[in-house]
Amino acid sequence: MAYDTPKVPNDLSAFWMPFTANRQFKKNPRMFVSADGMYYKTADGRDVLDGTAGLWCVNAGHNRPLITEAIQKQAAELDYAPAFQMGHPKAFELATAIRDMAPDPFEHVFFTNSGSESVETALKIALAYHRVRGEGTRTRLIGRERGYHGVNFGGISVGGIVNNRKFFGSLLTGVDHLPHTHLPDQNSFVRGQPEHGAYLAEDLERIVALHGGDNIAAVIVEPMAGSTGVLMPPKGYLEKLREICTKHGILLIFDEVITGFGRLGSSFAAEHFGVMPDLITTAKGLTNGVIPMGAVLATSKIHDAFMSGPEEAIELFHGYTYSGNPIASAAGLATLRTYREDGLFENAAGLANYWEDALHSLKGLPHVIDIRNMGLIGAIELEGIEGAPTKRAFNAFLQAYDKGLLIRTTGDIIALSPPLMINKAQIDELFGILADVLKNLD
Ligand code: PMP
Repeated sequence: MAYDTPKVPNDLSAFWMPFTANRQFKKNPRMFVSADGMYYKTADGRDVLDGTAGLWCVNAGHNRPLITEAIQKQAAELDYAPAFQMGHPKAFELATAIRDMAPDPFEHVFFTNSGSESVETALKIALAYHRVRGEGTRTRLIGRERGYHGVNFGGISVGGIVNNRKFFGSLLTGVDHLPHTHLPDQNSFVRGQPEHGAYLAEDLERIVALHGGDNIAAVIVEPMAGSTGVLMPPKGYLEKLREICTKHGILLIFDEVITGFGRLGSSFAAEHFGVMPDLITTAKGLTNGVIPMGAVLATSKIHDAFMSGPEEAIELFHGYTYSGNPIASAAGLATLRTYREDGLFENAAGLANYWEDALHSLKGLPHVIDIRNMGLIGAIELEGIEGAPTKRAFNAFLQAYDKGLLIRTTGDIIALSPPLMINKAQIDELFGILADVLKNLD
């Protein structure tokens, strides 16, 4: 399609950018003006290979025709409908499509607009679930160190990234944290799930002993922790968590905002690891990142507990103006169709070994102290510069961008998660650029 290249604005001061070093950025802005398939185009006309699917969300790749057309058509047909006490077909169709691709126990879908909102929604559903069943003492929530569950108050309370918590007051009360599962001395350069660390799940028994199981509502974890640096669950860890939660009547929530929709080569990580939680949070890949949307998937056990009151009574006092928004729903349906028709989850699964070999070929390059991977996700941990713990990886990010590759960094960890439409040649291109960057990094 022909279009005029957007101009870079003269004045960058009004936009207070999220999770960005604003002053530094505005001196040396990096701007994408268009995108197609696996590549972004920069304002100065260069192609940049998308090594991160945007922010772990553009799983089908950019500018996918089915999605673009569905959005245009829906905007002209029904742009908005009230989300409460009214319906429109696309939201119901999308909920059914999600249910049909989700593991069996997940029969119900509650729509949100982001990963953060999905987390808040899941925590609230968990608390309300116990309350409607007459177990209102179950109010405590358990997260994990280094967990990322978005940026709203529930999410940062159960989350375990210090910078995301420490500026924002006392947060939710009644929250405990499991230890994180990163054991660099025992598990470095492991391909896939590490051997050591399942025992860390047993810390949940300590928390239960401290507070009493009947005071605990839910445990929330990312089955594979993404934003905190791509940490794989040790073998047996998720199984153990599930076992202890079941034993004490505690709900288990998997935050699948990153792992949902094909990242590990399956629809959801729950399926990949063969461990079923009670609630799953999603967003990102649900609409290919094109339109904001998230969802919480609930088992019938959870959903049905809310359905026993009078028929005219509202069952859950929760929702958003844009829950199941028509255009987002249309984008979601077209995204799921694109995944299906292009066999993108199968592509991700089929390329996982090639990806793993290419990623681990970076072992031995300067400053590389660990490499981790699964499906089409990978992390390269760099040795931090003393006194400037994020600087080396950020320099790698800047150099990669200059050389035509988008990567993401968190602390001194480089995270990679390309669109699932990637092919072997593009994997070679990605790791070729990255190797070049790492060889020349101070
Ligand atoms: N949970 C997880 C596991 C995430 O990775 C993210 C985003 N990276 C979120 C929640 C928050 O999603 P959002 O930015 O859409 O609010």
